[in-house]
Amino acid sequence: MDAGKFFEFNSPTRIWCGLNAVERLGEAVKSFNTEDVFLVTDKGLTESGLLDEVLGVLKQSKITCEVFDDVEPNPDLQTVNRGAELFAKRIDRLIIAFGGGSPIDAAKAIGVKATHDGDIHDYTRHGDRKVQGITPPIIAVPTTAGTGSEVTWVSVLVDGKSKRKIVVPSPFIAPKLAIIDPLMTKSLPPSITATTGMDALTHAVEAYVSLKSGPLADAFALRAIETISKSLREAVGNGGNMEARSDMLMASTMAGVAFINGGLGLVHSVAHALGGRHNIAHGLANAIMLPLVMKFNLSAAPSRYRDIAVAMGETVSDLGLMEAAQKSVTAVEDMSKDIGIPTGLGALGIKDLNIDQLAEDALDDKGTFPFNPRPPTKTDVVEIFKEALKK
Ligand code: NAD
Repeated sequence: MDAGKFFEFNSPTRIWCGLNAVERLGEAVKSFNTEDVFLVTDKGLTESGLLDEVLGVLKQSKITCEVFDDVEPNPDLQTVNRGAELFAKRIDRLIIAFGGGSPIDAAKAIGVKATHDGDIHDYTRHGDRKVQGITPPIIAVPTTAGTGSEVTWVSVLVDGKSKRKIVVPSPFIAPKLAIIDPLMTKSLPPSITATTGMDALTHAVEAYVSLKSGPLADAFALRAIETISKSLREAVGNGGNMEARSDMLMASTMAGVAFINGGLGLVHSVAHALGGRHNIAHGLANAIMLPLVMKFNLSAAPSRYRDIAVAMGETVSDLGLMEAAQKSVTAVEDMSKDIGIPTGLGALGIKDLNIDQLAEDALDDKGTFPFNPRPPTKTDVVEIFKEALKK
């Protein structure tokens, strides 16, 4: 540990966790002295029948609930604006964010838009206004084991006009309570289990090698990496295994705590660029770009990558430092292969990309690449995209 390094650590979200924890949702809402909620979700959850379970719990507790289920994966700014208009009709409500990162992030931004003047852009990392402590309370119920958004204080949206991902950062948008119930992830199909699980792994890896990392975030990151390495294959292959589902949900929450404190890096910069311009699912973009960026970063933080290799179950005791660090990359590649992640952008059927534009977008991602252990040039980023296209 570097005793001279300053760091801050926060984890403001109360967590209720366990099988059937969602049955306590009524009690949770009432603990905020209200019986009136606005629930933000997506059509996939409506169709899966999971939303009905949650609405049943709320009805039993005599809680009034308006549902807004228009959120799309990579939520669009216009959707947030529509949600905010509906929410603002009775602003004194609590918001329940029910879903993966998309509904949770949309809920955070709906709370901001409905309570603040101006446009969401004003409150992003590129804007000039700060979110105030007037946002509505949010209870987040994650249904993917990936983003960790239930414990983070950023909202990631897509501006459909500029085709850029935009990020609203504010301590005031962190959910007040996260209800973490592995049963809510049981219906996730294998492919989404795989990509969202790789998203969580990416958070933990990037947080651990980040220039902003600190010992508390490191502890969460390493434990998340260990847990994902142990359980992701099983969660993908046997989604009914609630031990594996539970491990993955806990690991994604831990990885969320790790990265919101320890920071992210270049994987997220390039994945955000891909998500904005090409609407590629965030977890999939991260999964494809992770080993490529790890290779690029290895020389800048070899002992950190060696730790990651060990956390992933690799034996490195007989190896030199660089060789041991390299094992973290092969461990990630093996994991991706085992759970059916496409090897690259080429394997997704993408033949051509405006790489120059994507590299510029990535280097403009103020919240991520400044913490990457090896500062990338534009040429480096272009090369990483070219490599991803070849595969
Ligand atoms: P998602 O929320 O976009 O959901 C993906 C799909 O999975 C949707 O079609 C949804 O209906 C379906 N789904 C979700 N739960 C399901 C379940 N239990 N059963 C069946 N289907 C289910 O996916 P995500 O990966 O969780 O979220 C991605 C978004 O989160 C991106 O916009 C990304 O930028 C953002 N993100 C935010 C943070 C943060 O800290 N705020 C961190 C990482 C990513």
